[in-house]
Amino acid sequence: MAESPSPLFDAHLHPEGLSDDDLESMRLFGVEEALIVTHHKPHPALKAKDILEDFDHLLGRELRRCERAGIRAWAALGVHPQSLPPRGLPEVLSALPGYFTGGKVVAVGEIGFHRGGEAEAEAFTEQLSLAKRLKLPVVVHTPQRSKETLTRRALTLIRASGIGAQQVLVDHCNAKTVRLVLECGHTAGLTVHPDELSAERAVAQVRALGTERLVMNSDSGYGASDILGLARAARLLEKGELSPAVIARVTRTNARRFFRIDAA
Ligand SMILES: [Zn+2]
Repeated sequence: MAESPSPLFDAHLHPEGLSDDDLESMRLFGVEEALIVTHHKPHPALKAKDILEDFDHLLGRELRRCERAGIRAWAALGVHPQSLPPRGLPEVLSALPGYFTGGKVVAVGEIGFHRGGEAEAEAFTEQLSLAKRLKLPVVVHTPQRSKETLTRRALTLIRASGIGAQQVLVDHCNAKTVRLVLECGHTAGLTVHPDELSAERAVAQVRALGTERLVMNSDSGYGASDILGLARAARLLEKGELSPAVIARVTRTNARRFFRIDAA
């Protein structure tokens, strides 16, 4: 039997798109902890009520399923730019603060830009100011298309919001955007996913940039995903003879510190 895998924290997970077997497999390959990030199925007539029901579902059933598979989980709640309700955002935002009690909801997210546009910018700005007011960490989504343009636009709105740079994780970075994000003082998410970075490319970024404020995740759950992506990246880091301390930082402890898990 091989030695047991190093403990991993998957900092971006959508368990509602994963089976119990998938979660068990992730646990078997070392994922001991995870952050569940809200994502609603895009729907043209989405209402505030549907989003709030999704929050409840995530905090009830999905957290329990992760825990049952042996994965300790926390949640980030927010309205994803891909699924903004045509009306009803104010209602969601006024209900949101009530969820940040009890220690399981540790961040606002994922929020940001998906296609761009004024409605997305407005929802993003409002949720940034909510996070600032509640002093919470934020997970910012960046899309596959127009990644660089929309990342720059997100960074501008983040700066304008006045939220602390250290409170913000900009996720799904690529080789171009990761430096921009780090230069702004934010944490950068490297997503090992068929549509984002291969494990090899994610590892190359760690080699090039070091470990400070880098956090790896898999974004598993919707469409094509790689439930073993994070484990594969950790293994590649090991094979590349990076020290256990370095590996632990990008696959676990940076995320725990960012989401203040020890304090939760
Ligand atoms: Zn996601």
